[in-house]
Amino acid sequence: MIKTSLKNRIYLSPPHLSGNEKKYIQEALDSNWVAPLGPNVDAFEKELANYVGVNDAVAVSSGTAAIHLALSLLGVQTGDIVFCSSLTFIASANPILYQGANPVFIDSEPETWNMSPQALEEAFNSHAKEGKLPKAVILVNLYGQSAKMDELLTICNYFDVPVIEDAAESLGSTYKGVSSGTFGNFGIYSFNGNKIITTSGGGMLVSNNTSLLEKARYLATQARDPAKHYQHSSIGYNYRLSNILAGVGRGQLEVVEERVNARRRIFTNYSNELSKIPGIKFMPELNNSISNRWLTTLTIDQGITGVSVNELIDSLEEENIEARPVWKPLHLQPLFKGVTYAQHSKNIDVSRELFETGLCLPSGSNMTEEDQERVIECIKNVLVKKSIL
Ligand SMILES: *Cc1c(COP(=O)(O)O)cnc(C)c1O
Repeated sequence: MIKTSLKNRIYLSPPHLSGNEKKYIQEALDSNWVAPLGPNVDAFEKELANYVGVNDAVAVSSGTAAIHLALSLLGVQTGDIVFCSSLTFIASANPILYQGANPVFIDSEPETWNMSPQALEEAFNSHAKEGKLPKAVILVNLYGQSAKMDELLTICNYFDVPVIEDAAESLGSTYKGVSSGTFGNFGIYSFNGNKIITTSGGGMLVSNNTSLLEKARYLATQARDPAKHYQHSSIGYNYRLSNILAGVGRGQLEVVEERVNARRRIFTNYSNELSKIPGIKFMPELNNSISNRWLTTLTIDQGITGVSVNELIDSLEEENIEARPVWKPLHLQPLFKGVTYAQHSKNIDVSRELFETGLCLPSGSNMTEEDQERVIECIKNVLVKKSIL
């Protein structure tokens, strides 16, 4: 049995309110604009589009809904193929199944932990040979880190296949000075409770194609045709964000840069304290990119440290500290048994290795220095017991 400490629980990535959320919620309540949609939704969309530098944005009920709308706008349907990063949260790929389409998973490469251009090219070539090109590619920016956009987009453009950029975890990150989430035909963000900013639950679909985003608004409100009566000629969804929650989002977006700085500071502290330990390696940061360091993640070489990821997670839990393994790759999920997978190279399954050795540390932007000290001490103590230190 795991003995739990009496100390305060340190969560992986809890919500962090700015205080300004109340003002926008109050405005919505005072004006009785609780529904439908409303001024906070319109403003939140404009403010986010401005912040990341795109023409328009559509506020929706979740990041998952945003991915689903993007697939629908790209005409993905039953029997189509969609390429998707394997090392990601299930929400990246579930909407492929909603559309009755078939995912093909692409491995990561070691420098970013994101989609391997080599594996992507190989998947494109083998599918092109059979005349079965994918209808879309879903690129994920994991834990705030941008994927190798130039290399990946060159391949997608060559085969003329549109890209959906899953930036659920990378709001506030940049690649060559440009905002993460703005590289694909569509980008999506999540405001789930654990993300860098939250609306308690919500998401955003962004694009420079304003006419397709108008269509997204139509699909997200039950696809109601222009008529006095209720008339529908395509499948719609109930996916819009409420005016109250958009108020929370506006209060959060005002402090997003502070949140990025706080998480980067937390990463630097961990890295200063732990990166010199043999067998511990932190997630790298790609040249010319800035990660929001949503979660500080590292890998542990058990052969060197004598400690497995799970042992370390259990030891942290005993100290009432929440830590998690890296996402379990989708090609290893029972749901996707038998699905085609393109590996980084013949003998190296990078995403599997990262899953087997990867650990996410508590990284909330409201984490105190004392809390961080507790996490660092606990990790050092475990390694001391194994006489590594
Ligand atoms: C959180 C997350 C999503 C889904 O966002 P929700 O708002 O929870 O639906 C999608 N992709 C990735 C990589 C995520 O981390």
